[in-house]
Amino acid sequence: MEIVIVGAGIGGLVTALALHKAGHSPVIHESVTQLRELGVGINLLPHAVRVLSDLGLQERLLEAGIATSELLYFNKHGQKIWREPRGFEAGYDWPQISIHRGRLHAILLEEVRNRLGLDAVQTGHHLRSLDIEGTRPGLEFVSRENSGLKHTCKADLVIGADGIHSAVRAHFYPDEGPPMWNGAILWRGMCESDCFLTGRSMFMAGHANQKFVCYPVSGDHFRSGHSLTNWVAELRFDPQQAFQREDWNRRADPSTFLPEFGNWAFDWLDIPALVQATTDIWEYPMVDRDPVPQWSFGPVTLLGDAAHPMYPIGSNGASQAILDAQSLTLAMETHSRVDDALLAYETERLEPTAAIVRANRGQGPEQVMQIVEERAPDGFDDLDQIISNNELQDIAMRYKRLAGFDRESLNRKAQA
Ligand SMILES: Cc1cc2nc3c(=O)[nH]c(=O)nc-3n(C[C@H](O)[C@H](O)[C@H](O)COP(=O)(O)OP(=O)(O)OC[C@H]3O[C@@H](n4cnc5c(N)ncnc54)[C@H](O)[C@@H]3O)c2cc1C
Repeated sequence: MEIVIVGAGIGGLVTALALHKAGHSPVIHESVTQLRELGVGINLLPHAVRVLSDLGLQERLLEAGIATSELLYFNKHGQKIWREPRGFEAGYDWPQISIHRGRLHAILLEEVRNRLGLDAVQTGHHLRSLDIEGTRPGLEFVSRENSGLKHTCKADLVIGADGIHSAVRAHFYPDEGPPMWNGAILWRGMCESDCFLTGRSMFMAGHANQKFVCYPVSGDHFRSGHSLTNWVAELRFDPQQAFQREDWNRRADPSTFLPEFGNWAFDWLDIPALVQATTDIWEYPMVDRDPVPQWSFGPVTLLGDAAHPMYPIGSNGASQAILDAQSLTLAMETHSRVDDALLAYETERLEPTAAIVRANRGQGPEQVMQIVEERAPDGFDDLDQIISNNELQDIAMRYKRLAGFDRESLNRKAQA
């Protein structure tokens, strides 16, 4: 069976590895000519690490990244609102891994090339058009540099894993238009620093309109007693304003946001100093798209950000793409007809991911910071007077269930 995956991002590469393990030989066509280690930090939740572990990757990922031990929420004064253990420390059978997205991508790419062969990833192939009229879909790829026709092919199965600007999705939803902006801008960076908190902690501070997210991402740095620290500063503006189209590679100047965080020098981490020590800072608008009613159209389907672009809240972007890869592969194993498999995959994955898109619009589990901001903008002496532990527990657990990684059901699934 000829399987074409469009896009060699995290979703496309993991799908190729999973399908290969199930006996298939997919070919990935990727728009960019040279795949480089791009992006800053990214988080893999235990259910996604479980999928990667089944593909034999856990050791490499733990070597490269950090087994995150805890997640903390603070208010804008640096007072602790919530702490929960994560990954192994929380009793999961798999870790949560914080890792440089570029490293993760490079590891996956290397594994694909080693296992499937060098020709399995065709770079410089930008999907221009998809033809679904015949018995087998036809694809036309151009070079992005000069729009010259590069390659045409037909396939028995086409997986659109081509990200938030998916050409495959646009084929089925031509009037959808650009992603929607919620008014927030994210500035992202990474720099070497001293370890903070446990050295394997992830924290968020602030509230819905102003937030700072921070976590270490490098195993090498940690083992040498240091931290390669990933951070994201977020500010909210009027969503009616114009914003620059989302581009993961747009550089930014810290003077545009740093003054707002000027007094966020907490005794456990000096945030302004961290930002000032960062050489490369990137800007990205918080965008997503409304969930669509259908991903699978005969032998063509969508996966990852192409299927369910969501706000990068709750560490779910890459994790959900990885779960898609597993679900699609299992469906292929249990259905003899491709279109039945794709419908089964869609039935399993569309509604749960749509629920995460919607939950992330409501701040996901981070809503506890906004609740505390509204109830105690000047800080608090006794957190219990502001929000009860039950309320905090409830919000955290609800999101885990929704995103499919509450400990009991995940560990139970593994034993089944
Ligand atoms: C360069 C880059 C940097 C990123 N940095 C971060 C980060 O720092 N932190 C974070 O949380 N998330 C980041 N992301 C997003 C994150 O990787 C995704 O949200 C998540 O991993 C889901 O992955 P995906 O494979 O569905 O989409 P993506 O990772 O976006 O991958 C889609 C792939 O499809 C390719 N593509 C697009 N259009 C076409 C086309 N017409 N034809 C062929 N190929 C096409 C793209 O070049 C890309 O390689 C980044 C994405 C990219 C592309």
